[in-house]
Amino acid sequence: MRAMVLERFGPPEVMQLREVPDPVPEADEVVVKVHAVTVNRTLDVRVRQDGDGRQPILPLVLGVDPAGEVVARGPKVSSVQVGDRVAVLSPIRCGRCAACQSGRAADCAAPVHLGVHRWGGYAEYVAVPAANLVPIPDSLSFAAASVVVRHAPTAHHLLTHKAALRPGEWVLVMGAAGGLGHMGVQVARNLGARVIAGAGSAERVAAAMAAGAEFGVDYRHQDLVQAVLEITDGRGVDVVFENIGDPELFPKAFATLAHAGRLVTAGAHGGGVVALDVRRLYQRRLRVIGGAGSERSDLEAVLAMAEKGQLRPLIGRMLPLQEAALAHRLVEENRVLGKVVLSPATGG
Ligand code: ZN
Repeated sequence: MRAMVLERFGPPEVMQLREVPDPVPEADEVVVKVHAVTVNRTLDVRVRQDGDGRQPILPLVLGVDPAGEVVARGPKVSSVQVGDRVAVLSPIRCGRCAACQSGRAADCAAPVHLGVHRWGGYAEYVAVPAANLVPIPDSLSFAAASVVVRHAPTAHHLLTHKAALRPGEWVLVMGAAGGLGHMGVQVARNLGARVIAGAGSAERVAAAMAAGAEFGVDYRHQDLVQAVLEITDGRGVDVVFENIGDPELFPKAFATLAHAGRLVTAGAHGGGVVALDVRRLYQRRLRVIGGAGSERSDLEAVLAMAEKGQLRPLIGRMLPLQEAALAHRLVEENRVLGKVVLSPATGG
């Protein structure tokens, strides 16, 4: 099969299209023909640049969230059939640590990540444990499924488990046209919240409004705090959905919180080290809660939303496998509005 192989860290061109042996499934694994896999700033671009501190294996095939069709299965697999349409969850539980042994696999201390610690989806085929498969609703394309599975469960987990969002509450979504933010807007809306989209250009605000936000603020050209206070009649928002960690923007987003507000976050591509107004934090009884990751229940909830047409991923560009270097440049330089998705099995 053809795979985009990374033999050393460096610029996009270190990824080379190679002919490699087809994967063979272990007893509890299946082989998936990859129709779509997303390109992400952290898990793809940063890992390619320098490993991102994640100790990836080399040579490596990137690609954390392939979606496609089951073409072979190991002898112990009965949960899926050849021909099933599936998406793949990246973290593979170790099965050995204390959390795994006591049935709390979501808290696994040493998960192996597909596309980081074993070969992922930048290839025509990928072998994965059957336990990591999710069936895709027929109404969802492979590309849409890969984007939904990548971002929507995290957005759902942050808004429900971490922020305990209630219907009717106000949510400010920062980076609202980004991968996670765009899903955050739609999940919050589906949970009955009133959504203000914050984004860094008029075009990006418009994209978030099209996804269902009620109001939009271009925080690079407008005063974010003043705009949010005007929209909410001076009250502020109950929840800030953050994922940028920008030193200039974070304090402003934090300042929009109403009494007893919650700021939830999973992302720091804007830098990650920010000032915090501690006086405001305790006097207003605010909470700042971090947390990447999600549970099976989050995934089921968002797939149900997607099946009903309530989650529409923003796909900016589809590219064949051999254009992986271009795909990385587009993401690295933030040149595309919406996700960049590779289509390895259909790229010619
Ligand atoms: Zn474990």
